[in-house]
Amino acid sequence: MTKIELLKQINDEVLNLKKSPLFSYRTENKYFPVIGEGSLDAKIMFVGEAPGRNEAKCGKPFCGTAGKVLDELLEHIKIKRADIYITNIVNDRPQENRDPTENEIKIYGPFLDRQIEIIQPKVIAALGRYSMGYIMQKFGLGDKVEVISKMHGKSFDAQASYGPIKIVCLYHPCVAVYNPKRKDELKKDFEVLKFML
Ligand code: URA
Repeated sequence: MTKIELLKQINDEVLNLKKSPLFSYRTENKYFPVIGEGSLDAKIMFVGEAPGRNEAKCGKPFCGTAGKVLDELLEHIKIKRADIYITNIVNDRPQENRDPTENEIKIYGPFLDRQIEIIQPKVIAALGRYSMGYIMQKFGLGDKVEVISKMHGKSFDAQASYGPIKIVCLYHPCVAVYNPKRKDELKKDFEVLKFML
């Protein structure tokens, strides 16, 4: 199967994911699941947390206010959105933007695992503590995890099924939505990515 077909399969499965506690919230609000977007041959995959209201309305990751910050951060390191792949650990919007639960991460995590196998990125950039926790754990680095305020900007070597990869821990862009003064700190962290390609 081609990458497009494999991703379409994920899309169809998530669309019918009735076992998810977020399924009825999605259908009642006519929201879309957000699977991911970008280059299927991306060297960098960004993994966010879960769709917000804008994302659930348009079915695309980071198309709202956090997305604007992400665009600015990418622009800072001269990386085009079209050249990367962006996804989330949880594909449906949690009610009122609450944090995803452990159970939700357990339900949706395997879809992210499959996306990683399909895209085969060389670098996985985890945006925020939930994404960081999941990715670090997945690649056997769970014992290295500390609070995000200590982890941001750090990178780790890991082994994927398809070869060596780097994991980069970053603050979630929404940090700068709430506090624009912190954008410079985020920009500096993003610079780590520039030297990895
Ligand atoms: N925040 C996320 O973590 N993901 C999105 O897609 C949008 C906002």
